[in-house]
Amino acid sequence: MIHPGDAIGVAVSGGKDSLSLLHILKQISLSHNFTLQAITIDEGIPGYRDEALEIVSDFCNKIKVEHAVYSYKELFGSTLEQSLKIREEEKISSCSICGILRRRAIDFGAREFGVDRVATGHNLDDFIQTFIINLLSGDTNKISWMDPETTDNKARRIKPFCEIYENEIVFYAFANNIPFQSEECPHMNEGIRTEIRNFLNALEKNHSGIKNNMYKSILKISSEFKDKTDKVWKRCSKCGSDCTGDTCSVCKTLFNLGLGRP
Ligand code: SF4
Repeated sequence: MIHPGDAIGVAVSGGKDSLSLLHILKQISLSHNFTLQAITIDEGIPGYRDEALEIVSDFCNKIKVEHAVYSYKELFGSTLEQSLKIREEEKISSCSICGILRRRAIDFGAREFGVDRVATGHNLDDFIQTFIINLLSGDTNKISWMDPETTDNKARRIKPFCEIYENEIVFYAFANNIPFQSEECPHMNEGIRTEIRNFLNALEKNHSGIKNNMYKSILKISSEFKDKTDKVWKRCSKCGSDCTGDTCSVCKTLFNLGLGRP
């Protein structure tokens, strides 16, 4: 996923996954030819993000990785909480809006630092939960984009933990004394993800290895869908990113919420 000479942006939230990822990449970078830049997004969620910002800042100082913070307020003119108050389409969940803003904010940071790839801490559990969410919402297009290795964006997203179970990362964080945020986001249980997580954990408990089998199946399904997609890629008229219509989903959401575009 990482090539010699790459500048890697690491999206670091302050949770166990992203801090463990940064810790591992830092160690690998000492003997390989790539550089690291930590990028943290401040959504502006009261009582939640402050603890994480402090943890990430201290950790980056400790392991000597440059760190930058971008806030929704600064980039879009509105915190997540303010955006949620003005959303008209109630069917859009808090996490969907937050995810769209985060994607754009990380892209902005990646551009500022000229990074070649953005590494995120998504693990195997996240990956298969997302597949089920896409399946249940009927969004088969997103399934065709799930292959973690084949996206071709300028600042390509990579998921080095996509084959690692979440509980193994927790174990790694504890074993290496990596401090991570304990506070949960107040919006975390609004969507269906937590129910799917509990369901998959219950299955794994009784059928060891079932998540790993599912991961392999998803890769096959994703590549099948990718080959069959009849999508015609265009450029978004607002931001120039790849999309299938005139305007990408990020720009559409920013417009609907009356937010600024970084
Ligand atoms: Fe944003 Fe949802 Fe994550 Fe909270 S749980 S930080 S609202 S994506």
